Amino acid sequence: MIRTLSLTCSRCGKAFSAQDHLYYQDDFSVQSFQVIKLVCDDCIRAWKEKWQIAHAEFHEHNYVLTVTITLQDGTVYDNMDCTPMEDTESVITGEDIPPEAQHVLYEYYVAFARQREAQQLKDCFFSKGEDGKMVANLTTVGGEQYDKLAFSVEEGYLKTEQDVPDYILEGLVTAYKSYLAQEQMLSTASQPAPRMPQRKPMPESQWNTGDSYGSGNTGGGFGRRNKNPFGGF
Ligand SMILES: [Zn+2]
Repeated sequence: MIRTLSLTCSRCGKAFSAQDHLYYQDDFSVQSFQVIKLVCDDCIRAWKEKWQIAHAEFHEHNYVLTVTITLQDGTVYDNMDCTPMEDTESVITGEDIPPEAQHVLYEYYVAFARQREAQQLKDCFFSKGEDGKMVANLTTVGGEQYDKLAFSVEEGYLKTEQDVPDYILEGLVTAYKSYLAQEQMLSTASQPAPRMPQRKPMPESQWNTGDSYGSGNTGGGFGRRNKNPFGGF
């Protein structure tokens, strides 16, 4: 069966002509060639022109990377889940982004990753100050340094006496948790191993003889042996 497919753009609805290739929208719900979503050259051009990235800001929270993109025409795409692809040096999002803009996005990502790396703690030492308060001396990979940073844990939250950026606080929390775990390991190692509590034998009079077990049982033991309408086992 020979059929005809008219070149109509799925975006602007106009008929168009094509030379050596066609643009179409990837769509997994499309089952037949006839409902394929073609896109005309004009719409592709407008899409590429729209995707001029003015600014992109990446965030990472609980291992989920998101990006907020601002285009030069003022459009903002807020907190989109995204995946950086090292091999193609691009960033993939749920939104259709022209390859050129994906590369631009990747440059923003590289800058973000570099900064994040610099903000990691390189080392962190804890000690108890004279007033009994905990004190940390720490350095970031990027060379930032905090000396004698006093902190306390209140209602489960770690609070520093001076204001520090969030990434310092995050690093400090992680470092202090592993410090406490290590301390605990060292202190239990020097203690005797825990033993089972001693049990006293139960006086015989307290053993269940079956008289009070369940309802309607007469010879003791478990219910289904007695008065079973099906004859029991
Ligand atoms: Zn079009």
